[in-house]
Amino acid sequence: MSAMSRVVIIGGGPGGYESALVAAQLGADVTVVDTDGVGGSAVLTDCVPSKTLIATAELMTDMAEAAELGIEARDHQGDLSTTLEVDLAKVNARVKRLASDQSADIARRLEREKVRVVPGRGLLDSPGAVVAELADGGTETLTADAVLVATGAAPRTLPSAVPDGERILTWEQVYDLTEVPTELIVVGSGVTGAEFASAYLALGIPVTLVSSRDRVLPGEDADAAQVLEDVLTRRGMKVLGQSRMESVTRSGDVVTVRLTDGREVQGSHCILALGSVPNTAGVGLEEAGVTLDDGGFVKVDRVSRTSARGVYAAGDCTGVLMLASVAAMQGRIAMWHFLGDAVAPLDLKRVSSNVFTAPEIATVGWSQRAIDAGEIQAETVMLPLRGNPRAKMQGVHDGFVKLFCRPGTGIVVGGVVVGPRASELIHPVSLAVAESITADQLAQAFTVYPSMSGSVAEAARRLHHF
Ligand SMILES: Cc1cc2nc3c(=O)[nH]c(=O)nc-3n(C[C@H](O)[C@H](O)[C@H](O)COP(=O)(O)OP(=O)(O)OC[C@H]3O[C@@H](n4cnc5c(N)ncnc54)[C@H](O)[C@@H]3O)c2cc1C
Repeated sequence: MSAMSRVVIIGGGPGGYESALVAAQLGADVTVVDTDGVGGSAVLTDCVPSKTLIATAELMTDMAEAAELGIEARDHQGDLSTTLEVDLAKVNARVKRLASDQSADIARRLEREKVRVVPGRGLLDSPGAVVAELADGGTETLTADAVLVATGAAPRTLPSAVPDGERILTWEQVYDLTEVPTELIVVGSGVTGAEFASAYLALGIPVTLVSSRDRVLPGEDADAAQVLEDVLTRRGMKVLGQSRMESVTRSGDVVTVRLTDGREVQGSHCILALGSVPNTAGVGLEEAGVTLDDGGFVKVDRVSRTSARGVYAAGDCTGVLMLASVAAMQGRIAMWHFLGDAVAPLDLKRVSSNVFTAPEIATVGWSQRAIDAGEIQAETVMLPLRGNPRAKMQGVHDGFVKLFCRPGTGIVVGGVVVGPRASELIHPVSLAVAESITADQLAQAFTVYPSMSGSVAEAARRLHHF
């Protein structure tokens, strides 16, 4: 591909900006059209803000457990966290500052790499042209040899549960809270709902989690979800299973969540975590020959091609796997493919992901559900963390390491870690899955004594075949 290939990217989230960096590295002339500021929802409203809030929540979780390790407040015995108060206005100011700093960092990096950023809304005019409706008025037509659509997704709301930005909130609006909710209701027990419920509970706020399913995190490993639900209820969260929300209404300072079976739950605030809808309407996609599925997501193949020649798509707008890491990889793959670099198709079995609750739940590779359904044959071992010496020292009682390997070869095909910082502990398992390492090889690598990662090696040892 010539060095002068023109790439136009619609959307400046991880799907967009990471691909812009790859395209610029490979010598293309790159323009990103973005409405909200580079970094996208990932940086401005979703991942970065929520994980910054959760950093504060983690510290409070540690404080709640400090008494067991011999730390007490003067004039107070027992749970140290009850003597502490969260200044939500300060927490939220820090969250917003960090998010905008991160966005500015990305903007500087793009500028250094000579990527042009056009503030405005991008519309696909044809497979070879994007019209930018400029933020400061007017339009500009950008011709392109390849277009990448990376417009992301937005929180789903319902006509019967309309956010007001004050007490009925989407996850994008929680950082405008200045007063601490006295009773928070979180509707939706998927990853986003569980993370916010866990974080606000740790900050000392009474939380009710409304879940339409039997248990929290219906999409995750069942053993992991059970550990989390047990911990959250032990810490005082009310988890309402089999409870489908019908409506959310507000009267003065009181928010009422009505369930389909007629029950009502009242609180001071409600966060709606009902999933996401793709930002694909009114962008000219179907008119330009880009096929959408029934949910409005852009259909793509494993190298991010859409049905329109020269038009690629990446990230949440494709609905492939709604993670920033996957969005970025889909975008990079698109650019490697278009610009003729070496490229391997997207492999979802190598994606490691984490639920940032307390404890965290990290997974990679094949799941227990797929093994139980007979989709792959695998041997399984599950090792509770409470037997780990480091866990005992740190007062960690909950969590486990689970490993899956192929019966004959012993190749590791997946794993789950539940515990504090599971997001860091999953990495050796992720490496094993990516490099087809056997359980024996994983067991033979030294781990530090004492360490939580010792449990990963120990689990691998238990999968040894004589
Ligand atoms: C609360 C929450 C927490 C999360 N935490 C994590 C996490 O910890 N780790 C993780 O990996 N993932 C996390 N995710 C998922 C992650 O945020 C998304 O997968 C990621 O943002 C997808 O990136 P994207 O580039 O597809 O879209 P986005 O980040 O949504 O960026 C798309 C951008 O395009 C802009 N745009 C839309 N339409 C147009 C248009 N027509 N013209 C120009 N610009 C347009 C949008 O305004 C937006 O700025 C979280 C999600 C949520 C909701």
